Amino acid sequence: MVDNVGKIGQILEDYSPIQIGTTGIYQKEHFTVIGRLQLSYEAGLWNEWYILFDNHQSAWLGEASGQYAITYEVNPDNPPPELPAIKPGSVYQHQGLSYTATDVRKAQCVGGEGELPFMVGSGYQAQVADYRSGEYFLTIDYSHGKTATLYAGRAVDLSTLKCQLLLSDNDISTRAGRIKGSVHTLHCPNCGFALQYNVGVATQLSCPSCASSVDCSGDRAVLLSKMQAQLKSRFARLELGAKGRIHGNTWTIIGLIECKDPQYDDEIWVEYLLFNSKKGFLWLVQTESSWYETEVLNQHPNTQSEEVVKFKSVNYHLSERYASDVVYAAGAFNWRVAVNDRTWIEEYTNNNTALIKEQTAHEITWSKARLRNENEVKVWFPSLRADKTKNRGEISLDTQSFFESCLAILWIVNLTIGLVGGHLVIPALLSALGTLLLWLPLFFMKLFGK
Ligand SMILES: [Zn+2]
Repeated sequence: MVDNVGKIGQILEDYSPIQIGTTGIYQKEHFTVIGRLQLSYEAGLWNEWYILFDNHQSAWLGEASGQYAITYEVNPDNPPPELPAIKPGSVYQHQGLSYTATDVRKAQCVGGEGELPFMVGSGYQAQVADYRSGEYFLTIDYSHGKTATLYAGRAVDLSTLKCQLLLSDNDISTRAGRIKGSVHTLHCPNCGFALQYNVGVATQLSCPSCASSVDCSGDRAVLLSKMQAQLKSRFARLELGAKGRIHGNTWTIIGLIECKDPQYDDEIWVEYLLFNSKKGFLWLVQTESSWYETEVLNQHPNTQSEEVVKFKSVNYHLSERYASDVVYAAGAFNWRVAVNDRTWIEEYTNNNTALIKEQTAHEITWSKARLRNENEVKVWFPSLRADKTKNRGEISLDTQSFFESCLAILWIVNLTIGLVGGHLVIPALLSALGTLLLWLPLFFMKLFGK
């Protein structure tokens, strides 16, 4: 049973390439998008596209932050848990698979259009828990009263669905009045600073001038919180807005977070959020000793044991467990980031690659990090600044050549005076004393750092 809802609420511009009428192929079955529910949650907007297969079966194509999943309504094998009992990391068994809860959220319906399997009024609230098991995806929906509805399927990406009638970048920019990812300016509602962000990709801004949090998901600046926070990153070696060429694509740094391990005051690292309009997001992480290029995974690794996870038939071993607190954030983000946010992190490694599990009170995400060296990053970003924390024990070339020039002048002047005056011993002794006096500070600088 399908109701034509026409249009309800006001669909907000989210720059999605999907539209009613888009077609695709999933597991050899052809489908057409016939309806949409648009919901608003912490990270911005999220779409549930209602799709109808040629065999008359229907399903949902979920779209959030550029990640997609197709799910069908199924009958539960086991009674679904009560919603308040579900936490990220909770386990639910279905069809012989062990699913882990990755996301528990409440969302408000913003609008809907086309044909939907139920009537949706304004004020409709969705309460869902998402679970994953490798590429398999499961949603338990608590939106319709006491009985939970189960949807099961897989994480997908648009390219493998062979979609037709997607909106082109041109169509989107004509409709939205702007090109997705283009830079737009909003003024900070707290201090008036001109905040730049990429339309349709960033939903949350952290003001570099006053550290306030600002929501920009609806292209308007809404002040979320005034933050009395640190106003500058002490360790960042790349600037917001810096552009770099990585693997043939140009990326812009749109957000920057400084994090700290609460157990150790000197364990500090910087995470840069990079954006490219075709490729989406990429993270670059700067630690004290190395760099990591990191992408968020739409397919989660499978847990093999307490210490081993498997991803694409490769085993990764637990190497570290620690907490991370945000101490500074500036720029634009695709989720709501705030100072003092705490995340629990587990790192699993295999050679130079790490799988990183990040868990908060509301969600679990997995990402894959590849070790990169300083020279590679310097090639990507020629604007990379020198590491100020590493100068200890090293004298800069400038300082060294300054002292060498002083020594040369000292000897030349004294020996010239000696030669002219016919006495070489005293000028030579004076030069030796001068050398010692000049050399001593250099020696102590090398010993104790600057
Ligand atoms: Zn501000």
